[in-house]
Amino acid sequence: MSSQEPTVRPRNEDAAPAWQPQPIARPGGGSSPVVERALADVRSKIYPRSVTGFFARWRVALVVFTQLIYYGLPWLQWNGRQAVLFDLGARKFYIFGMVLWPQDIIYLTVLLVLSAFSLFLFTAMAGRLFCGYACPQTVYTEIFMWVERKVEGDRLARIRLDESPWNARKIRLKATKHVLWILIALWTGFTFIGYFAPIRELFTGVFAGTLGFWQWFWMFFYGFATWGNAGFMREQVCKYMCPYARFQSVMVDQDTFVVTYDYVRGEPRGGRSRRIDHKEAGMGDCVDCSLCVQVCPTGIDIREGMQYMCIGCGACVDACDTVMDKMDYPRGLIRYTSGNAIKEGLTQQQVRKRIFRPRTIVYMTILSVILVAFLVSLATRTTLRVDVIRDRGVLGREVPGGMIENVYRLQIMNTSEETLSVDLSASGLPEITLTTADGTTSTVKIDPASNRLVPIVVQVPVGQTEPGLHDIELRAQAVSEGGRETVVVEHSSFYVPK
Ligand code: SF4
Ligand code: SF4
Repeated sequence: MSSQEPTVRPRNEDAAPAWQPQPIARPGGGSSPVVERALADVRSKIYPRSVTGFFARWRVALVVFTQLIYYGLPWLQWNGRQAVLFDLGARKFYIFGMVLWPQDIIYLTVLLVLSAFSLFLFTAMAGRLFCGYACPQTVYTEIFMWVERKVEGDRLARIRLDESPWNARKIRLKATKHVLWILIALWTGFTFIGYFAPIRELFTGVFAGTLGFWQWFWMFFYGFATWGNAGFMREQVCKYMCPYARFQSVMVDQDTFVVTYDYVRGEPRGGRSRRIDHKEAGMGDCVDCSLCVQVCPTGIDIREGMQYMCIGCGACVDACDTVMDKMDYPRGLIRYTSGNAIKEGLTQQQVRKRIFRPRTIVYMTILSVILVAFLVSLATRTTLRVDVIRDRGVLGREVPGGMIENVYRLQIMNTSEETLSVDLSASGLPEITLTTADGTTSTVKIDPASNRLVPIVVQVPVGQTEPGLHDIELRAQAVSEGGRETVVVEHSSFYVPK
């Protein structure tokens, strides 16, 4: 073989077909090659090589964006309080100008349904986009790997360091890395509890050592989970623990945009000199440099076909494009495209048209309907709620002054950020009147984002109404400090004794 003759290796047709579960064990004992390979994978540490390019820039942008939101949001103030606070003790969720109460659990449910449908839609359209760019596991792994690269160096330096015997330099580098990791992890844990208790008070509490047991617990627990998952578990979480990786197979099809190796163009692969005409030599565009494998955070070879371990991060796309540039070949040997595009030789425009297919159209329709209903419901959400509780001790009685009296308690809830002045009145029977229990007024003040139990007395003159139960309406008319008016009408019954 001449030195210019390439090593041609055929594409492995049998390996890892798209998303299909592999057999786990052979009957009669002994483990299958698949199991052995999986166990070897778990044991072997992956040293992803750093990569630059279009998708790497997107990943960095999304890490910065998501973390600015995560770390920054609890510090924002709104109307003199924390803008986003899930106050479990007071059972109130503050989200900017909105205060949600336990009665608003429906909004949380709808939000979860919306998230689920968004996930279905985006996975059907573009595979594991969420995994590659916004999943906390990916994001923190990226941050921790960035720290690791800064302290220990790139792939080869890290491999050498791990293989070298323990000495002062190795201890210094490892200790520096872990101190930085632990600081990031603890800050992440601290931020997490800052969504459930006022973060400014927590901040002083941490240094004064005055946090409660559960606050310490959750801060360390979340910090520990971050350190363990992003520092050590990394791709193992995506490969073996994440349920999404397993059920995505029902959400993608052959028209889904995923990171795909163009085997039609790439095979037969093999090393070659830049000077030869590889097409004339019967070779494909893949130079078999293995860069796409070296940069892969989950350590897979995308050339073996689509695999459930692929998180769609695009690192292999960037790596391969660099190689294609160096070889003067067109970019896109590995690219975001669909299985059908490779099989049928479709253009990117034809592939994009297939984004709108029955499955995605159904998801989009459902998502739009739920989203519109959710927004309308939020926009028209009343800031005043009233629950009527009848006094069960005394149904109705005659009182001095020739009146029949029924006693109720009103649970009045102000979900706005302003004090409400609430005028109470009753209707439905002749000459019906309503006052608070002390008989002095029919107007009450309700503080912002609070509720108040108000005992009230409703009276009608004796002889004006037949004995028995009668339907009445209790009306609460609120005027905010800004002059906004809200009216709530509740139905109840009035009892006239014989
Ligand atoms: S980076 Fe591209 S050229 Fe290199 S092995 Fe991977 S697919 Fe082939
Ligand atoms: S195969 Fe490519 S896209 Fe998939 S995880 Fe590896 S580097 Fe990321």
